[in-house]
Amino acid sequence: MTNAQQRIEAIFEQVIKRNPGEPEFHQAVREVIDTLAPVLEKHPSYAEQKIIERICEPERQIIFRVPWQDDNGEVHINRGFRVGFNSALGPYKGGLRFHPSVMLGTIKFLAFEQTFKNALTGLPIGSGKGGSDFDPKGKSDSEVMRFCQSFMTELYRHIGELTDVPAGDMGVGAREIGYLFGQYKRITNRYESGILTGKSPSWGGALVRKEATGYGAVFFAEEMLKIKGRDLEGAKCLVSGSGNVAIYAMEKLQSLGAKVVACSDSAGFIYDKTGIDLNTVKQVKEVERQRIKNYVNEHPDAEYHENDNIWDIPCDLALPCATQNELDENSARTLINNGCMAVSEGANMPCTPEAVRLFLDSDVAYGPGKAANAGGVATSALEMQQNASRDSWSFEHTEKRLKEIMTNIHNDCYNTAEEFGYKGNYMVGANIASFRRVAEAMLAFGVI
Ligand code: GLU
Repeated sequence: MTNAQQRIEAIFEQVIKRNPGEPEFHQAVREVIDTLAPVLEKHPSYAEQKIIERICEPERQIIFRVPWQDDNGEVHINRGFRVGFNSALGPYKGGLRFHPSVMLGTIKFLAFEQTFKNALTGLPIGSGKGGSDFDPKGKSDSEVMRFCQSFMTELYRHIGELTDVPAGDMGVGAREIGYLFGQYKRITNRYESGILTGKSPSWGGALVRKEATGYGAVFFAEEMLKIKGRDLEGAKCLVSGSGNVAIYAMEKLQSLGAKVVACSDSAGFIYDKTGIDLNTVKQVKEVERQRIKNYVNEHPDAEYHENDNIWDIPCDLALPCATQNELDENSARTLINNGCMAVSEGANMPCTPEAVRLFLDSDVAYGPGKAANAGGVATSALEMQQNASRDSWSFEHTEKRLKEIMTNIHNDCYNTAEEFGYKGNYMVGANIASFRRVAEAMLAFGVI
């Protein structure tokens, strides 16, 4: 083991010791710092100034009680979180996740990932993440509203255009952002558009923000295929999930000539070999807020599978857009054996470390989430620009900017991997390119 590798091992041991019971956070840290030895060797000041040690410690972590009443008057207590991970490149920036599985460790893993993802965009945004163990499933509109109002009644004092700018993530879309913003405006007596992103375009939101994560993951996939001399025309695609990221990934894939045959939710997946009808998916998920299995009511020839694995379906391209660790070693092996060309992660950390290893050792082009799904937060940064200048851009202009940003991220990852002798390894490229950017800013600020 080199000195740099020994140092990284010691740092990782410390991270485990100081953050017990947070396996997803450990996993996210491991995945990044394991690739950083060559950078430490090249830049001794990063080690002297303990940049990795500092980057692994969140700048601040806020935990608060969120009490609310359901429609029957029963009182519920949830837990709210906001972690500001790194503000070297700009105000904390990252989404809010409402899901029953949310714990501090979940938010820390997401905020840590966000540090590198946001740096890759090249835009002036630091990293953060927040959320709650609140389960929006089956809740009425007014219950969601009361929950959001209670959540913001504490959160408002911690955020700000120049401090921390939350947005959506799982369970938080335009409806929740609307309720959160309404409460912020009411408490503070200020119409500060720039305190949240993912707003509706009818009152300060940016066009393309809703579509951006999914579109971006497809643009990233397109760039990876280009390197392989391939394209999306006629490509058979699997997209897991059926939330915001999955829906707009499918939309862009279809518009670029690919054929999406399956998508899923946490209960099962639908397989429509004639190609998924996106209007039905949007109706079921965005309008009715129902389970994906209802798709087959409209399309009786499509199949609904409850206990099978979506990744068993042969495909050319896989976009995991559901949640962390949804694609394991066995699924990766099946995808490789079925001749899959590329995997572009729309979700955050959807592939297990074993799955990633298999992809990297194979011919499959693997686009890690922190690069492939950065289009969402990048467009949030464009929303911040529009809010700051009291302007709003057209759909075409914003989508063009998104595409440029995704192409730049792709090239940055590809070229950095090559520079360090890991040609074609987007994970190494993404980690090193983003780490260097954050590290340079941290060095400039001294020991803070
Ligand atoms: N939650 C999204 C992500 O994982 C977007 C965050 C944002 O727009 O601030 O990157």
